[in-house]
Amino acid sequence: MWQPCVLLKYGELMLKGRNRGRFENLLIRNARRALSELPHPVRVRRRRGLLLLSAPDHPELQTELVARARQLIGVSVVQPAIRVDRTPEAAVDAALRLARRARPAATAAFAVRARRRHKDFPMTSSQLQAHLGDRIHAALGWPVDLTAPEVEIAVEVDLHEIFVSVERYRGLDGLPVGSSGRALALLSGGYDSPVAAFRLMRRGLACDFVHFTGAPLTGPASAYKAYALARRLARFQGETRLWLVPLGQAQRELALAGAGALQIVAQRRLMLRVADRIARGHGAHALVTGDSLGQVSSQTLSNLGTVERAAELPVLRPLLAWGKEEIMAEAGRLGTAEISRLPDEDCCSLLLPRSVATRTTPAQLDGFERRLDLDDTVEALLAKAQCLPVCAGAGEDADVPSRRAAS
Ligand code: ATP
Ligand code: MG
Repeated sequence: MWQPCVLLKYGELMLKGRNRGRFENLLIRNARRALSELPHPVRVRRRRGLLLLSAPDHPELQTELVARARQLIGVSVVQPAIRVDRTPEAAVDAALRLARRARPAATAAFAVRARRRHKDFPMTSSQLQAHLGDRIHAALGWPVDLTAPEVEIAVEVDLHEIFVSVERYRGLDGLPVGSSGRALALLSGGYDSPVAAFRLMRRGLACDFVHFTGAPLTGPASAYKAYALARRLARFQGETRLWLVPLGQAQRELALAGAGALQIVAQRRLMLRVADRIARGHGAHALVTGDSLGQVSSQTLSNLGTVERAAELPVLRPLLAWGKEEIMAEAGRLGTAEISRLPDEDCCSLLLPRSVATRTTPAQLDGFERRLDLDDTVEALLAKAQCLPVCAGAGEDADVPSRRAAS
């Protein structure tokens, strides 16, 4: 047997004790989904403390499996490996072939790290390690260096097979998406909100999205951006929905009612009211925003407090303590920065007051909102909301499907 495969090792999942089975099942489901678009079927199998991916008749898919696995939330280490028979000879043969492949024309200091996940193997880990080390040294003439090897050969004895590998990559870590439930993330076209959603996906939260456009006062650019961002994020979780809500008319009503310096905070409260209703109607248990304390005047402590009173669901703000540079760096790694960078006409840039109140109270906003028929406004916005199914994608090749009516 000589089967290229990929081992997925758990990080935090290992700490889950009796609940681990549930987390593992979710990870397996997410892995199957993430691999389902590949041209050939992929097997996802459970081994003690890890998952095993393989495309039985298509060893050439190994590189692609590695790339996909590195995007899988809940995996801490991604290790391409060769699966061989459960004998020391098979392990030696695989180790030699991998070592030669890793350094075709050179001598390299090497180390063998062996471990047994099942103990009923005729050699102990250290005996196996020594045996492999001797054989490789004899065959290749490479020196052994256990502290800083150039090539590290990992040999893992499992119940039915041995895995041999010379490479390992860091995964995304975190908890499998879905293990913490579902939330609705408020997605603007900026850098922050996609990062906020991603950070919570890494805590196991599946996210749908809502984006407020300035329509009919602005063009469609921000909706295209929101769709591209949602599509980029969908690759971490699969099935995703994006609601588009045209806020322009309601923004104008707020302005005409004399919101003045309260305009931005009043808009945010309106967004939260609408988002809260969509979320509760579609099985989400929290809202997510990209707020970062003090980033702009609408994000002072008192304004954040005033805004969140408008929602019944908890408002999660994973970036609250992040600085802009950290957020931008994460957006770069995530591939959302290149989308956020595109120009658009954010709904909030319309009807901007000359000054923005930095200290507001809920009572102040309640007072202002009594001048309006806010319930009617919320109902009208919900009636105009459109729900788009988002399919996972790389983002740069995102294309927007024709709109569908809200469900
Ligand atoms: P981002 O925060 O995404 O970079 P931004 O900086 O333009 O965009 P802020 O003014 O900081 O947005 O708004 C704070 C948060 O409010 C955003 O992170 C987002 O969660 C939410 N939000 C703002 N505008 C919109 C919008 N048009 N649609 C949906 N959510 C929005
Ligand atoms: Mg922001």
